[in-house]
Amino acid sequence: MTAIPTAAAIDWARVRADFPLLQRTVHGKPLIYLDSANTAQKPAAVIDAVDDFYRLHNANVSRAVHTLGAEATESYEGARRKLATFLNVRADELVLCSGTTFAINLVAYSWALPRLKPGDAIVLTRMEHHANIVPWQIIAERTGAVIRVAELDDRGDIDLDALYALLTPEVKLLGVAHVSNVLGTVNPVRDICREARRRGIVTVIDGSQAAPHRALDVAAIGCDFYAITGHKMVGPTGTGALWARREHLQSMPPFLGGGEMIREVSFAGTVYNDPPHRFEAGTPNIAGFVGLGAAVDYLSSVGMAAIEAREKELLAHATEALSSIDGVRILGRAREKAAVVSFVVDGAHAHDLATLLDLEGVAVRSGQHCAHPLMRAFGVAATCRASFAFYNTHAEIDTFAAALVKVRRLLG
Ligand code: PLP
Repeated sequence: MTAIPTAAAIDWARVRADFPLLQRTVHGKPLIYLDSANTAQKPAAVIDAVDDFYRLHNANVSRAVHTLGAEATESYEGARRKLATFLNVRADELVLCSGTTFAINLVAYSWALPRLKPGDAIVLTRMEHHANIVPWQIIAERTGAVIRVAELDDRGDIDLDALYALLTPEVKLLGVAHVSNVLGTVNPVRDICREARRRGIVTVIDGSQAAPHRALDVAAIGCDFYAITGHKMVGPTGTGALWARREHLQSMPPFLGGGEMIREVSFAGTVYNDPPHRFEAGTPNIAGFVGLGAAVDYLSSVGMAAIEAREKELLAHATEALSSIDGVRILGRAREKAAVVSFVVDGAHAHDLATLLDLEGVAVRSGQHCAHPLMRAFGVAATCRASFAFYNTHAEIDTFAAALVKVRRLLG
């Protein structure tokens, strides 16, 4: 039996030292980067992999027979295989794309648009990111389908009974975030997908905030589609993937046309390539995927179980530190949470707080976090969000809490 790694068994200071950017200062203060839910910092291994690709291997994929072309193709396909292992899915069911936004739009345009019709319904939850709302609104408008919204309880958990009550025979598709980018809520996607499947409803899981923080077994979740974005997984921007069940990919028409996605083109008619390449028109972000392959190797070498355990400790510390500050209210106290703390402060606007915290070297996000409907439900115009990754430290949380006390005093 292999031992389960624990956070305590790892030298986190050494892990942190892998991230060059974390050494810098901002406004003369050591940077405290608490915006990893927005985008994660990159370890040297990822930066070096991208650099190495451009210095030594740069060529286009799947076109040239020369050595560099073969190396580029092997690196790109190697990244697909690494990502597939990381997610526990088949590599030929993994479409590489620019990120979750593209991945969900691919499902919307290729799977949903040809199928949905007036009278059909799409169910989403109140906590979805706009990337899992707006594509469905466009599809609903084009097909005559309607959108139903599953509401949350005060803690920020989905009201599961209410969700299941919405899953009537008209519902063809259910879209749910695995982890909320605002509340940190970890949704019981396995249970939700089982209930949907029993009713013949196709499920789209937005895994953007789950993949960087926990070991994933996408096959075991039982969903139909799972979307991820590479830049939150310490990989380069402009990388991501859609996993889809083979039967869906086989039946879906292409979303974009061009090179790479065809087998044969003639003016009498074009034969499309097999999935997943059918959905990868044009030259992909090859160097980015080389970097994402390195990111997956990096996360695996630290260990996802250890990362999850480490981030749980950081979350508990941050929650305690912020809860003890007068006038600070944390949004979302879900039963299971990822390391995200959204908060508001009495009498202070989120943008003012974030601007003053930046002067202290602390980077937090402020605003509506691409989740307007969620903000409205909590009755707030905006929040500050501190989001943590395994490379953050307990000392950073103490400095952040002290900075927040100071900033709050300044704002009166
Ligand atoms: N879904 C969630 C939950 C997110 O947090 C994000 C990014 O913030 C996205 C989707 C969109 O990801 P991307 O902009 O990388 O496509």
